[in-house]
Amino acid sequence: MPKITSAKNRKPPPDGWDDIETNLLDFQNQLKDATDSSSEGQKKHESTHKVFQISHQRSRYIYDLYYEKEAISRQLYDWLLKNGYADATLIAKWKKQGYEKLCCLRCIQTKETNFNSTCICRVPREQLKEDQEIQCVSCGCRGCASSD
Ligand SMILES: [Zn+2]
Ligand SMILES: [Zn+2]
Repeated sequence: MPKITSAKNRKPPPDGWDDIETNLLDFQNQLKDATDSSSEGQKKHESTHKVFQISHQRSRYIYDLYYEKEAISRQLYDWLLKNGYADATLIAKWKKQGYEKLCCLRCIQTKETNFNSTCICRVPREQLKEDQEIQCVSCGCRGCASSD
């Protein structure tokens, strides 16, 4: 009969984890700061945007490590996604043409925006008036069209 230990569901991370742990901890701290600051009188949407942006950067970091730099193994990449270090759905979008810089998934969930097609931040700069204000209501993105 196998011995039951408290570490049963917590397998150690795959090889390569040690190399990125510090950076991921850094993201973790930034996220914590952003979440904490929401209770310190900061405008609610500002801290929400911050949290969105940091999670975005963290997903991008992991995406780059695996797809661009090929610096981590598939095993570690999968482990990171499974443990919530990156947003798998967002990364799946980045692999599609035209979505390489997508800031957040809400931008392409048309129901939640005031625009019938997509969020204003997805519209290329050249199609907008010069002084037009661009900001994603969900994450505060100021433009993430692939052509920008
Ligand atoms: Zn955007
Ligand atoms: Zn967005």
